[in-house]
Amino acid sequence: MIPVKKALSIIEKRTKPLGMESVPLNESVGRVLAEDIVADQDLPPFDRSQMDGYAVKAADTANVPVTLKLVGESAAGRGWTGRLRKGEAVRIMTGAPVPAGADAVQKLEVANESDGYLLLSEPTEKGRFIVKRAAEVKKGSIVLSKGERITSNSLAIPAAFGYSTVKVTKMPRIAIFSTGSEIVEIHKKPKADQIRNSNCVMLGSLTREVGGDVNIWPIVGDNISDLRSQITLAATSADVLIMTGGVSVGKYDLTKAALRELGAEFYFDRVRLKPGKPTVFARLGKTIVFGLPGNPVSAAVTFHLFVRKCVLLMQSANVCDLSSGYAVLDDPVKGTKERDSYLPAIIATNPSGHLIASPIRWHGSSDLVGFSRADALIFVPKDVSCAAGDRVEVRFL
Ligand code: AMP
Ligand code: MG
Repeated sequence: MIPVKKALSIIEKRTKPLGMESVPLNESVGRVLAEDIVADQDLPPFDRSQMDGYAVKAADTANVPVTLKLVGESAAGRGWTGRLRKGEAVRIMTGAPVPAGADAVQKLEVANESDGYLLLSEPTEKGRFIVKRAAEVKKGSIVLSKGERITSNSLAIPAAFGYSTVKVTKMPRIAIFSTGSEIVEIHKKPKADQIRNSNCVMLGSLTREVGGDVNIWPIVGDNISDLRSQITLAATSADVLIMTGGVSVGKYDLTKAALRELGAEFYFDRVRLKPGKPTVFARLGKTIVFGLPGNPVSAAVTFHLFVRKCVLLMQSANVCDLSSGYAVLDDPVKGTKERDSYLPAIIATNPSGHLIASPIRWHGSSDLVGFSRADALIFVPKDVSCAAGDRVEVRFL
């Protein structure tokens, strides 16, 4: 049995990054950048007006009311190319370039135009309502880094700097299936001793969220030759194979035996972890194999701790671990002998601004309903118990 930390470092050592490819920008959300995105121009590219109004010399407006000569117009996409002189003003629109010679904008609401002249009733000051060229981004600077995941929020950045395609790392192909003679498909009515396959949809979705290209395979019963054939087939077209069930020590826990017969190399098969002790991490040919415990909560926790990291490492993501932090416990939690626990919790802030972790009252590692509300895992070191009010380490889901 190895500690969680050791398991994570083994995963780091054994996971090889996949290559890269180019994709159209609008298909790139969720992918990991394989190149830095570099600004090909300043942003804004010119001194830009923030208001509909008039470009002026601020000094001309020191004593109001003042009358200025209207000499032109600068619209968005149709800038005024002359040079503003003392006593002059140029009508300007939001987003339009501020003409040379002007150093401020005054808004429309405090101005009156007639017969080619402008009457200003309020002064303005140098720089007012102008976003200076390059104030947001300087040409040549890195605006998104290699290894970052592209999100809907950041998608505008490559667009603004001319990247209609981006280089991203390849999506790992992930095969997933459940094992267990009691497991039936979701649409079936289970007999008295059967259980619906809730693991596959959950793991499929969690995997897609971290960039995996998911292929779900049929359920396999607790039968070693069936297990062998499906493992072999699934592994040929996958970078990672995730199975659930059959990794414990029962008579019909056959996943490990099947892998062994196929010649898989085992990196670990027991972790000092609760829930998730019998987690298997192995390699079959070029395919990484995870055998997760069948209990839904154990499967979810081991996914979050181990599989997620492996899938992100394959994509050379900058951040492959769950983000972590500290919170104050509002209920006691009991640790486990010789195993670290990662317990589902709900995180909230209290009126004094502290993060509070409320352990979810759950009925063991089959309680998928209890777990579904979790937005964090509380880390409880082995052999330790924590009281209400203690500060604990949490991993955010
Ligand atoms: P096992 O890991 O095979 O010992 O299974 C542990 C528990 O998880 C058993 O109660 C199984 O019925 C349950 N289980 C296994 N696979 C699934 C699955 N795909 N969906 C829901 N529950 C499962
Ligand atoms: Mg089983």
